[in-house]
Amino acid sequence: MTDRRTELADNLARVEDRISAACAKAGRNRDDVTLIVVTKTYPATDVRILSELGIRHVAENRDQDAAPKAAACSDLPLTWHFVGQLQTNKVRSVTGYADIVQSVDRVKLVTALSKEAVRAGRELNCLIQVALDAESDARGDRGGVGPGGVAALADAVAAAEGLRLGGLMTVAPLAGPFARRQRAAFDRLMEISSGLRASHPAAKMVSAGMSSDLEDAVAAGATHVRVGTAVLGVRPRLG
Ligand SMILES: *Cc1c(COP(=O)(O)O)cnc(C)c1O
Repeated sequence: MTDRRTELADNLARVEDRISAACAKAGRNRDDVTLIVVTKTYPATDVRILSELGIRHVAENRDQDAAPKAAACSDLPLTWHFVGQLQTNKVRSVTGYADIVQSVDRVKLVTALSKEAVRAGRELNCLIQVALDAESDARGDRGGVGPGGVAALADAVAAAEGLRLGGLMTVAPLAGPFARRQRAAFDRLMEISSGLRASHPAAKMVSAGMSSDLEDAVAAGATHVRVGTAVLGVRPRLG
């Protein structure tokens, strides 16, 4: 094995141990949690190695970086998640490779995604990004819609042609009442998810938890964790 392959395999094994331990502690099946590796800022060669090591879900947060990488990896059996703040002028490009957009946070974006999904003849799975640092239905500092805006946005996604409502995503907030309280933040997300599932039973995905807090997310009930640094290493500052 090359050095990089060995490094990624070792890191993946450690992350896998952490997820398994967290599942065991929470009385959950390991199969109920999907690992998404966030490959932003890392090259397509790393994505290829991850695929060879059995990873099936990868995530990116900037279209400029993601589009060429996804094209270089189009022969691989990967599901691509888009997790970054998304401008409507990037929607056509993102729709070309993303299977799941986790950062849906406004109606204007729903309209654009629907239009491009229909044009491409694809069905896009969409998660509503919940901002736990925002009041009511305002937008959050790092993207996302406040808890009060989730229901209306979910209805808009569910009604939009070409889109499917998959569930919810959050990034643990740096500010506000949930700052440095990851477990409480993820518990709150699960509460919002229960409310959502009352009207949209199929919207079961709950994407929460990153390298530093995946245990809290698994304990709270997340179905998907998004791990970058712990698998690929510390990123250069950008990204
Ligand atoms: C970068 C990123 C992650 C991964 O963060 P790490 O701390 O590197 O694990 C997860 N989710 C989103 C939305 C990200 O942008």
